[in-house]
Amino acid sequence: MNTVVVTGGAGFIGSHLVQELVELKQHVHIIDNLSTGSAGKVHPAAVLHVEDIRSPAALQTIISLKPDTVFHLAAQADVQQSVSNPRLDMEINAGGTLNMLEGCRKAGVRKFIFASTSGVYGNLDKDFLDETDTAMPISFYGLSKYAAEHYIRLYGQLFDVDWTVLRFANVYGPGQTSKGEGGVVSIFLNQLLQDKPLTINGDGEQTRDFIYVKDVVSALSAAQSSDSRDILHVSTGAATSVNRLVALLRQYHSLDITTHNRSARAGDIRNSCLSNDRIRSRLNWKHKFSIEEGLRETYLHFIKPVS
Ligand code: NAD
Repeated sequence: MNTVVVTGGAGFIGSHLVQELVELKQHVHIIDNLSTGSAGKVHPAAVLHVEDIRSPAALQTIISLKPDTVFHLAAQADVQQSVSNPRLDMEINAGGTLNMLEGCRKAGVRKFIFASTSGVYGNLDKDFLDETDTAMPISFYGLSKYAAEHYIRLYGQLFDVDWTVLRFANVYGPGQTSKGEGGVVSIFLNQLLQDKPLTINGDGEQTRDFIYVKDVVSALSAAQSSDSRDILHVSTGAATSVNRLVALLRQYHSLDITTHNRSARAGDIRNSCLSNDRIRSRLNWKHKFSIEEGLRETYLHFIKPVS
């Protein structure tokens, strides 16, 4: 049985990944300090090491386990937090990644897979991005993730640790909290649960590429068996506006949904959509869930349908 480590395995995306890996009969160890994740999300078949990715203990865990693959998802993933505390963000996202890479080098890990973000691009004057576009982060979060990508590339070049960097679009799905990245779906669903109006920033015509968490998991899993060192988007390649999300929720919800528009947030990107041509050709991966299907599953998970 393959031994794998999932950092951040007690978080939103990590807990879905762990479930899949356990189903694939892999022997899963999780490194997570439970800062935003919770032990309750951890699959009973996985072993949880409550450790900080920056710590000597986490480094030692990787060295002792000698896993085949490390899926590195643990991060400080809150953009606002990165702006208010850039040092902490850098220490976790760049320094913590470096610590995990050092563990991989010493343990002879075959494959390092990194959860990166479309946030590395910043505010490019382009609605549809591919992996050759210039990264010009506009938050410390984007910058620390971008720095981590380069540490990974160099560990591959200098120490022969194989890697794949996956830049996720806006991920949504069951188990997401309203904090961190890509939270508009969970924010809306929490507002619905509390019978509050949905808060729309600006006119709601801004678009994002929303990718369902099960598709993200299948991309992470596909990366495990690839031996190419690539930076790849995990996206649908389709733009969905915030107003469209509201319209879909109105179809699923039998009660009235009210909305409240407030002023657009300064610095917010207007449109963001990521090409997925490269991951299709390199990993033979394609998303399975349209926004209609993924949002419906997420809705049903958050809110019991009203009969
Ligand atoms: P999450 O906050 O639910 O999960 C992060 C996990 O990492 C949590 O369980 C947390 O406890 C753990 N963690 C944080 N700091 C740690 C540290 N110093 N040591 C050990 N564990 C630590 O977030 P998520 O949405 O599941 O994100 C997972 C990854 O995907 C992150 O790397 C994030 O940057 C990336 N990502 C997420 C999205 C999105 O839309 N959710 C988009 C792009 C990229």
